[in-house]
Amino acid sequence: MQPVEQLSTPFETIHQPADGFSARGPKTREDLTRFEKIDWGGSLAFFGVHVIGVLAIFTGISWAAVAMCLFMYYARMFAITGIYHRYFSHRTYKTSRFFQFIMAFWGTSCGQQGPLWWAAHHRHHHKYSDTPEDIHSPGLRGFWWAHWGWVICKRYSDTREENVKDLTKYPELNFINKYHGIAPLVLATAIFFFGSFLEHAAPALHTNGLQMLSWGFFTSTTLLYHGTFTINSLSHVFGKKRFETGDDSKNNWILSLITMGEGWHNNHHKFPFSERQGIYWWEIDMSHYVLKVFSWFGLVWDIQTHPKELFSGAGNLKKEAAL
Ligand SMILES: [Zn+2]
Ligand SMILES: [Zn+2]
Repeated sequence: MQPVEQLSTPFETIHQPADGFSARGPKTREDLTRFEKIDWGGSLAFFGVHVIGVLAIFTGISWAAVAMCLFMYYARMFAITGIYHRYFSHRTYKTSRFFQFIMAFWGTSCGQQGPLWWAAHHRHHHKYSDTPEDIHSPGLRGFWWAHWGWVICKRYSDTREENVKDLTKYPELNFINKYHGIAPLVLATAIFFFGSFLEHAAPALHTNGLQMLSWGFFTSTTLLYHGTFTINSLSHVFGKKRFETGDDSKNNWILSLITMGEGWHNNHHKFPFSERQGIYWWEIDMSHYVLKVFSWFGLVWDIQTHPKELFSGAGNLKKEAAL
């Protein structure tokens, strides 16, 4: 279909990096040492967030802290799905350069590296989904590797800039990609002071700075890591396959609730240029609703969707053969 080809332009710029960027399993122990050892130094913050997140049980619990945990989870899950994924990886809508920067900063608050790193790896996934070149195929390399093994692996810690040339032309994005640790530090500090403020201003809430910091930032960030990772580890395994896409992507409503719409992953692999990933009204896609509201305020525009030819007059999906 011609319109589809035109809209998927960003993917055409992808080419194979020098080392092949292959995710094939190491053939020898030497390969393993060279390419796929854990990046302990680089993953220190990642492990630290988990440990402190668990230690939240020692700071006590309050409704205010749990509410902050949930709020920070979904506010930042949107940053992963609506921003890192649907904007930086797939360019499924347009925005201003200023708001692009704001969105990039928001995205880095998730602790999942910078927007260029994230988009470069994700574009690679779409190009090689569930083939030996795919970095995180659960079918080929197992659940744990797909879930977080590759994330802490030294081999994939660098930004593959050749995959994101359309983004590296913006100096401010390169800056924020490099200094992606700023936003999490700012956010953690702000949450701590907010908790300290509430301790004195609203003692009935029974919270304090440390409790708010541990639940609102560390526990929330840990949950956010694993909520995000389910798309790599589970949505290529569990669910229903509506479209033949040449990979193992599935549609899964539970994962969609956890990830604000990303669980409609088979739809997404079929139409990666479409911002909207739920096709029917009952395929709840929270990220799409948020972006729709953004568009009402002029923050984003030109939101792409599934091709109109996909639907028959009654709004039903036509048979795949008709596409
Ligand atoms: Zn996928
Ligand atoms: Zn994608």
